[in-house]
Amino acid sequence: MRTFWQVIRRHFVVNSRIGRNDLCWCGSNKKYKKCHLNRDKQEPIKYWEINQAFQKANSRKECLVPKSLSLQCSGNIIKAHTVPKTSSLRAISQDGHVLGYKMTFESMRKHSGTPTFEKIGVNQASTFNGFCKYHDDVLFSSLEKERFAATKKQCFSLSYRAFAKEYYAKSAVLSLSPLRNDADKGKTIQEQIDIQMNNYLFELGTKAAMEDLEYHKAYFDAALEAHDYDNTRAVVFILDEPPPFMVCGSVNPDYDFNGAKLQELMDLDKRSDCISVTSYYDGCKGIVVLSWLENSDVSCQSLMRSLLSKKKELYLPFVVQYIFKYFENVFIAPNWWEKLHTDSKNMLTALTSDNVSTHDEPNSDGLLEVVAKYELPKLAEVQLVGWSL
Ligand SMILES: [Zn+2]
Ligand SMILES: [Zn+2]
Repeated sequence: MRTFWQVIRRHFVVNSRIGRNDLCWCGSNKKYKKCHLNRDKQEPIKYWEINQAFQKANSRKECLVPKSLSLQCSGNIIKAHTVPKTSSLRAISQDGHVLGYKMTFESMRKHSGTPTFEKIGVNQASTFNGFCKYHDDVLFSSLEKERFAATKKQCFSLSYRAFAKEYYAKSAVLSLSPLRNDADKGKTIQEQIDIQMNNYLFELGTKAAMEDLEYHKAYFDAALEAHDYDNTRAVVFILDEPPPFMVCGSVNPDYDFNGAKLQELMDLDKRSDCISVTSYYDGCKGIVVLSWLENSDVSCQSLMRSLLSKKKELYLPFVVQYIFKYFENVFIAPNWWEKLHTDSKNMLTALTSDNVSTHDEPNSDGLLEVVAKYELPKLAEVQLVGWSL
């Protein structure tokens, strides 16, 4: 098994006697004289350049459907909501706003890299440029026009949209690597080495994640092309009100809800299973769906079994914690957040900063109290789609 550190050690041998025409120590495959020679004297990269590159990468227009379907593309890539605006975002908004993370460089800088909730207008929240108008319509309109009936097709659509959003975001991150590699301009040699080491590690992780995403995309694409959604699996939670948290994203689950390891994400030679989490309001009931395809059965079934083996009143609190811990494309009701007990707020905020794990019980001094503190809608029903316990 190759691990990050083995690769790093092999790759990063900084040679103090490096020649001008040798390959640069940073691993760029450029000659030293064209890369890091005299980098300490170069003009540091400007804030506006980073900002601009960030915005460009995160607004690039691309329809993510499989190649075989791209002939039907209508041409216009639209700014599509991954959480439906009219039904869902509006249902939890206050004065036209929800709370969420602004995924801009400006915002990250302002909060020193710590994810912080900010007010976002419902027109902007959850949007991305990942589908053309035609495909956004044919692939997802049924979710907005029909009541949710937990069909495999609906669960597939939810899963696919969440996956596509993740795929798009990760591609944007990867496209920014030239910028990251220029971040050490004007810095001392030691700072350069530190920055390049970090970049290299980051890049390895991102590339491995991207390979995983490509592998999963092939599965999603095959299902789409065949109109065959039989490989879809899901756990559906039906609530009697809109969920105060709206989410659409996918993740490689590493631990289950009891803290048991599900898969080794640091192993670069292994494909990782992935799960999508989405929530929305269909105009009548609140829906939270955790869904995956057959190729992720091993980790995802274990993950869901660990959740469903808990007391029923803990299902939603654990899902909320999971969402806060793992997802960025999440939007919450300002009213709900304001009313939350300070302890609950602190707990959820800590989760986003990765300080605690979801396998901790929500609170050791009284589970029911915590459930009450999260003030979640009543869980009306749990349905399994495409698999059984
Ligand atoms: Zn270099
Ligand atoms: Zn298209």
